[in-house]
Amino acid sequence: MLTKSTLIWCLFGIASAHAAVQVTYLPAESDSDKKAKQAIVDSGVNSVIVNLAQEHFKFKQSLTIQYGGDEGPLYDPETHTIHIPYNFYTQTVSYFEQNQYQEKFDRSAQLGAIDTMMHTLLHEAGHAYIEDQAIPILAKEEDAVDNFAAVIMIEYVENGDEASISAADMFAFESQDRPDYYQADEYIDEHSFDLQRYFSTLCLVYGSNPEKHADLLNEIEHDLLTERKEFCVSQFQTISNNWHRYLTSENASYF
Ligand SMILES: [Zn+2]
Repeated sequence: MLTKSTLIWCLFGIASAHAAVQVTYLPAESDSDKKAKQAIVDSGVNSVIVNLAQEHFKFKQSLTIQYGGDEGPLYDPETHTIHIPYNFYTQTVSYFEQNQYQEKFDRSAQLGAIDTMMHTLLHEAGHAYIEDQAIPILAKEEDAVDNFAAVIMIEYVENGDEASISAADMFAFESQDRPDYYQADEYIDEHSFDLQRYFSTLCLVYGSNPEKHADLLNEIEHDLLTERKEFCVSQFQTISNNWHRYLTSENASYF
């Protein structure tokens, strides 16, 4: 017969062996927050993240994604929670609308915002996974988790290369709001500049399939382009191989 303490231990054992990603929503008060919540729910982006985590980056300790509130997007290591405010979605949609995404790229602003949401969730989940697995980070963690998001999307999400390009475009849109010259505090910030994040993401998409994305890097100066393309092919292989040392997928490496 199981004693109470054995039962608790068993339940704990089961829970920790199957630590999952949970999604919670704080009440959406304003009309725009309600719309954002509905769009996030309808998009299915959360089940993509939950399934990816289950297959490729299993957590020892369960992770919560919480929508709503004012803070974020961020990962709070104290509570192992990712916080995403509803207005993050709303603001992202308006960036894509202002840049005539539908007209120029034949992809709706709403889809662009969900692409960005997926990249952001994976970026924050990357921080959480580094914490959860005690993965050593030898340079900027922010760059490492941007790479994590891109690699996961490119390799495991249907049309994830296209979604990564949208997420990269969002970095370019944000960069348009920046002044021509940065202040000291922006150099001190732990993130790379938005335009660097844009090019780094495009570099990984290009490097993952140079034939399919032959024109993706064409805005780079002609003199630098050949060298940059070669770099991106090896960069994708290096980053993908290195992340695969820590991913839980059965088919550990693509190379
Ligand atoms: Zn971050």
